Amino acid sequence: MKKGLLIVLSGPSGVGKGTVCKALLKKTSNLTYSVSATTRQPRLGEVDGVNYFFKSRDHFLRMIEEDALLEYAEYVGNYYGTPREFVDKTLEQGKDIILEIEVQGALKVKEKFPDGIFIFLLPPSLDELKDRIIGRGTENETVIDHRMNVAIEEIALMEHYDYAVVNDEIDMACKRIESIIIAEHCKI
Ligand code: 5GP
Repeated sequence: MKKGLLIVLSGPSGVGKGTVCKALLKKTSNLTYSVSATTRQPRLGEVDGVNYFFKSRDHFLRMIEEDALLEYAEYVGNYYGTPREFVDKTLEQGKDIILEIEVQGALKVKEKFPDGIFIFLLPPSLDELKDRIIGRGTENETVIDHRMNVAIEEIALMEHYDYAVVNDEIDMACKRIESIIIAEHCKI
């Protein structure tokens, strides 16, 4: 049986990765979402095991020690990581899997999965990005500034990705990503 595709979706905080992912998962039957582990506190409405596996710092460090993570990174004061076993199993079952992760982690995944598909989601502009983060209303001013600085650093690393998709409009951004996945399945 043919293995599934590993798809990595990165992009600055607030660009709409979560919304795009949700829409893609609804439309694409052979696509599975990789739920990450994190030490960040849940935001209002986030559910353990659905949005993230919320872990204590100690538990997360144990996962690192046990080599249970495909990659991990520290991002704005918290740890985030991809549980390895779920990714391996999904790919072996011939299903595609999407990892919604930041750039440092994505580069580590690229070392292990050079055949993965690396997609970078861009905001229409930096002003628009800041407005979106403020509009989300979940972060204070210091965190927003920090996330904006990280965003600029992340965009500078876009050259390591295979595709750049502008999220000017959700439906259009999804269509572009769907097209990429379809084309990648047709690759010889
Ligand atoms: P947030 O706190 O906004 O949910 O996520 C912060 C950043 O961490 C986002 O860029 C998100 O894509 C990234 N992230 C989420 N899960 C993982 C993961 O498992 N590994 C890495 N490296 N980054 C992740």
